[in-house]
Parts: sequence; C-alpha cells; structure tokens
Amino acid sequence: MNDAAADRRSEAFLVVVSGPSGVGKTTIVERVVAQVPRVRESISVTTRAPREGEVDGRDYFFVDEARFETMKVEGELLEWAHVHGAQYGTPSRFMREQLAAGFDVVLNIDIQGGNRVKKLFPATVTIFILPPSFEALEARIRGRGSLDDEALRVRLENAREEIAAAKTYDYLVVNDELDDAVARVQAVILAERCRRERQKYGVVEYLIHPPR
Ligand code: 5GP
Repeated sequence: MNDAAADRRSEAFLVVVSGPSGVGKTTIVERVVAQVPRVRESISVTTRAPREGEVDGRDYFFVDEARFETMKVEGELLEWAHVHGAQYGTPSRFMREQLAAGFDVVLNIDIQGGNRVKKLFPATVTIFILPPSFEALEARIRGRGSLDDEALRVRLENAREEIAAAKTYDYLVVNDELDDAVARVQAVILAERCRRERQKYGVVEYLIHPPR
C-alpha cells in the first residue's frame, strides 16, 4: 500500500484511543501509526514536565501554564482536560489539516477528552484499551519504577474509574499480547474505512453508472 492520501475512497476520521495509565496505549498507538498507511498521530500540548527520554514536539508540546491558557482562550485547542494534576489539550489545527489531506488522526487522550471529541465529531471512532487484569496493570505501573506508593494508589484508583467509564466507547481491546492488541486496533481502523457511510460520494454510483 502506498501513502498517497489522494487515493482514499473513504472520508478521513478521528480515532480516539484511551485507557488507564500503564495499559500500553502509547506503544500501541506508535506501532499502529508506523504500520497503517494514511494515519497520523496528534501531538498534545501539556503543562507537565517532560519525562526522561521524552522529546518536545515528538511526545508532547511542553508548555507553561500561561501559554496553555492563551491557547485555550485563542481557540487553538479542540479539547482539554486536567489529568493527574497537569493540563493536557489537543491542538485543533494539525488535526484539521491532516483530515483535510486524507489522513486518519489518532488521539491518545483520556476519557473526558474522548467523549468531548465524539460529541464534536460524531464520526469519530473510540477505542478503549483494557489490561488483562488489575494485577497485570499494577505490575506494569510498578515496573515503570518512577512512582511512590501514594502516586501508585491514585493511579490504580483512577484506573478503576476510567475502566468503569469504558462502556461509552465503541471498541474494547484487551492488551494481553502487544502484537495482538496492535493487530486488533489496526483491524478496527481498516474496517471503519470500509463503512458504507464513510465512502465518498460517487464510489457506488461510479460502479453502477460508469462514465462512458
Ligand atoms: P501521560 O502524562 O502519562 O503522558 O498522560 C496522562 C494521561 O493524559 C493519559 O491518559 C493520556 O491519554 C492523557 N492525555 C494526553 N494528551 C491529552 C490531551 O490532549 N487531552 C486529553 N483530554 N487527555 C490527554
């Protein structure tokens, strides 16, 4: 498959990927974007400090509170939310440009943001990533090693609430084996591209009444 946007038969759409902290969303999204043609990842703006290894403009756009407020006021953010004590938001412009160019845009955002985006753009596909068990999730978060017991407790409590809210999402993907989870997310995107309602006007008409 090539990466030319022009040969798309379906209208481009947004794909929201949410799930509790530590479930593996970022890795899944990275792989999907690398493997599925005509998909781009939205890069969020955040007021939290970069973690080790994170790069400004690749993982997030790291900004201070004042800049974040300006972006909100100037209407530069599609949605925003307070998550784990910091602000996060989705820049509108990149998303609009990519959709217009025929790229589906994946948003790795929390459930507040996901529900907001779905309201603004009902054609959005929402995918919730679940851990195989709470024990597995706890082990993964502990494995990251950077949190004290209190922070870990807060993350696990938030995870329970987030998972309970997963019922508003279109698709549930359990991240038991990474390769399988990636394949399922890819399958969702490819199947959604085949939805009749997403086909550009003329695809069916062209077949029935081909130009002579
Ligand atoms: P982290 O700080 O671990 O990278 O992300 C914390 C949480 O914030 C994750 O659940 C992530 O999906 C969410 N998040 C990241 N960017 C955005 C955004 O632009 N909007 C919203 N609503 N949530 C976001």
